[in-house]
Amino acid sequence: MTTWRTHMAGDPTKVLVGERLSLAGWAARRRDHGGLIFVDLRDRSGITQLVINPELAPDAADLAHQIRNEFVLRAEGTLVARSPETVNPNMPTGEVELQVDQLEIVSRSTPLPFQLDEENVDETLRLRYRWLDLRREKLQRNITLRAQMVGIIRREMEAAGFLDIQTPILFKPTPEGARDFVVPARLQKGRFYALPQSPQILKQLTMVAGFDRYYQIAICFRDEDLRADRVQEITQLDVEMSFPDLEFLYETMERMYARIWRECLGIEIETPFPRMTFEEADRRFGTDKPDTRFELEIEDATEVTRSSEFGVFKSAAAVRFLRVPQELSRGDLAKLEELAKEWGAKGLAYLVYDEEGEVRSPIAKFLAEEELAAFRSDPGTTVLFAADSWPATSRVLGALRSHLGRELGLVDDDVFTFLWVYDFPMFERDEEEGRWTAVHHPFTRPTDDWKERFADGPEEALAYAYDLIVNGNELGGGSFRIHEPEIQAKVFELLGLSEEDQRSKFGFLLEALAMGAPPMGGIALGIDRMTMVLAGEPNLRDVIAFPKNQAGVDPMSGAPSDVTQEQLDELGIKLHVPES
Ligand code: ASP
Repeated sequence: MTTWRTHMAGDPTKVLVGERLSLAGWAARRRDHGGLIFVDLRDRSGITQLVINPELAPDAADLAHQIRNEFVLRAEGTLVARSPETVNPNMPTGEVELQVDQLEIVSRSTPLPFQLDEENVDETLRLRYRWLDLRREKLQRNITLRAQMVGIIRREMEAAGFLDIQTPILFKPTPEGARDFVVPARLQKGRFYALPQSPQILKQLTMVAGFDRYYQIAICFRDEDLRADRVQEITQLDVEMSFPDLEFLYETMERMYARIWRECLGIEIETPFPRMTFEEADRRFGTDKPDTRFELEIEDATEVTRSSEFGVFKSAAAVRFLRVPQELSRGDLAKLEELAKEWGAKGLAYLVYDEEGEVRSPIAKFLAEEELAAFRSDPGTTVLFAADSWPATSRVLGALRSHLGRELGLVDDDVFTFLWVYDFPMFERDEEEGRWTAVHHPFTRPTDDWKERFADGPEEALAYAYDLIVNGNELGGGSFRIHEPEIQAKVFELLGLSEEDQRSKFGFLLEALAMGAPPMGGIALGIDRMTMVLAGEPNLRDVIAFPKNQAGVDPMSGAPSDVTQEQLDELGIKLHVPES
C-alpha cells in the first residue's frame, strides 16, 4: 500500500497465506514462548500476531527481546496458517500469523502511566495522556464512528442541495442562553469579540444573502458550569433553508438519520418519526423530551381531588400520579422520595396495592370513595403522587418516570425511538428577573395562529419550533424564523430590549431583515450527543478526541494557562483575580 506497509494489521486472513506482507504499528503485547517470540501488532484496523523464530531469523529475534508495550514496529515476513490448536476464533486474524524475518523498531516508548487494557483508569490520568487513552479500542471505535457519521451527514446534506458555508469564530454575542466566551481584541483595545454560542444570526444572513440552503459542522462555544453531560465546545450540524417547508426539513433529517443508523449500526429505523406537541409530551410524560421506549404515563387527578379531605391534594393547583407496576417497599419509596425532593417536591404521597389488592398508605384514610376508585389499581401496583403547580408536577413525575424506567428494567436498550416534539411555548417567565425570556431563541417565529397577537398573551403564545428526541435524549432543535423586521423588533421589545440595545446588539440583523429577507427556518443537531447514542457511550468526553475535564481544564496541555505581562500590556488588560 505504501512504502511502510503492504497491508493493515486487521487485513490478514487465510486467503493471504503464503504471501509476503509488511505491517507497521504498535506492540500491544509481547510473549516469549519456548524460544519463539510472539508480538501482537496493532494499528487502527486491528491486530496481527507476529511470530519470530530465533532459528529462522536470529537478528530479528535479538531485536524482538527489546520490544516493550507500545513500541512502534515494522515487520516483514510470510503469512502462515496457525496450527489448529493455536487458532484464536475471537480475532478476525486469528487463523493466521506473520512469520517475521525482518523486524525494525521504529520508535520506543517510555514506561506507560497505565496499560491500555487496564480498566477503571482515573479519568484525569487518561486525559493527561490522551494520546495513549485514544489508542484504546473503545475510543478508537467512538472516534471512528463519529468520523463515519459526519461523513454521511455531509454527503446527505450536499445531496439535498445544502452548501457548506463557514462562519466566523470571532464574532459578537449570539444569544442561546449561556454565558459568552470573550476574546480581547488587540487592534481595538478595550473591546472584545465573543465566540458564537451558535451561528444562528450568521446562518440567517446567508439566507438573506440568497444562498438558499446552508449547513455547517459548527462549533458552538457556551461558557456553562459543567455537568457530566455538558461541554463548553459543542459541535453541531447547523442547518438553515429559505422558503422552508417543514415536511421537507423533517424528511431530510429523517433520511440522514436512517442512513447513519443503517451504515454505522446496521439497524433499520422506522421513518417518518412520530410527532407530538409539547403540550402532549408534558401532559403524558412530564417532559419535553420523553423516552417513549416504555409506557408508564402520567395521569391527572386534579378534578377528582378538588375537594379532597387530604389537604395537600385540595390546595394544589395540580395533582398527578404514576401507576408503577410493582409493589414498592418502604425502602424503595424512601429513595424515590429523596429523588422527588431533589426535583423540588416537598414529599411523596403514595398508595401501595399489595398482591392481595389491599391498599397500604398513610394517606388512604383521608381519601374519599370516589378518589380511591379513581386510583384503584391492579394488585402489585404503587401509585405515586405529585401535588403542586402544573410545571412542578411535570418536573417531579417526569424525573421519577425516567428513573423508574431504568430501575425497573422497562427500557429495551436495543430499541431507538425517535420523536419530533413541536409547538413549544414561545416565552417563559424568568421570575427572578421579572421578565420574559425566549424558550428557543429570540429569532424564533410565532405559529401562524399567534403571529399577530403573541404580545397579548406571551404566557400562552406558541412558537414555530421543534426538537428531535431519541430515547429521551434531545438531539437538537430548530425553528422557523422571523423574517419581518417589525415582528422581530416587537419580540425584542417583549424580551425587554430597549431600542438602544436592539440597535447595538442586533441592528445589523434588523437592517438585513429590512432589505429583502426570505422566509427561513432550520435546525441544529448535536454531533456529540448523536455519537453518544450511536455508540451507546454514557460518557460525553469519550466521544470527543480532546475534551476538557469538568473544571474546563485540559489536563494534557494545561489549558487554560497564564499569559505573559507583555501580552496583557499589548491587549491593554490589567488582571484582577479575586483570591479564592
Ligand atoms: N441556533 C439553535 C441552537 O443552536 C438552533 C436553531 O434554531 O437552528 O440551538
